[in-house]
Amino acid sequence: MTIAILALQGAFVEHEQMLNSLGVETFLIRKTEDWQRHKDGLVIPGGESTAMLKIMKDELLLEPIREAIANGLPVFGTCAGMILLANSVENEERERLATMDIFVRRNAYGRQLGSFYTVAPVKGIGDDVPMTFIRAPYIISVGNGVEVLATVDGNIVAARQNHQLVCSFHPELNTDTRFHQYFVEMVKGK
Ligand code: GLN
Repeated sequence: MTIAILALQGAFVEHEQMLNSLGVETFLIRKTEDWQRHKDGLVIPGGESTAMLKIMKDELLLEPIREAIANGLPVFGTCAGMILLANSVENEERERLATMDIFVRRNAYGRQLGSFYTVAPVKGIGDDVPMTFIRAPYIISVGNGVEVLATVDGNIVAARQNHQLVCSFHPELNTDTRFHQYFVEMVKGK
């Protein structure tokens, strides 16, 4: 199994290390040439969604990535990655991948106090999953086909729609590999 990691900006190295530690091969996507390589899944990391989106457009990656996800490529978006996958984002008209039926609030915890750590149960994964939030978004509401996997203080922080998995936090920044393992199982089950 080979998983591609979008490496335009943000926390991609940690995803690479975590997937490699699970015995999964990875490669980084920076240009359209990289995108041509065979992949069984895609990770879109956290970072700054506006910056990532701009580079995606400049590198002509937005359309091919959108098309591949629409055609069933399994994808895992964390934090900014979740924003890029959202059908709609509060107070934002910007173009994005928009493949997943979720309504997202950016910087939902405020800009200054936006970073915190907690643990919470995640459906299909288990209890006490470590969650590091960094100027994180959360999901305000989900469409019919979307399964809510975790909430913190009543807000949705992880969800799945068929082959698309998202979370508000950064599972790659902790040593608990269960979230990535869940994605790997998703890719296998495809
Ligand atoms: N605040 C960032 C954004 O809106 C997301 C933060 C993150 O990915 N850690 O794009």
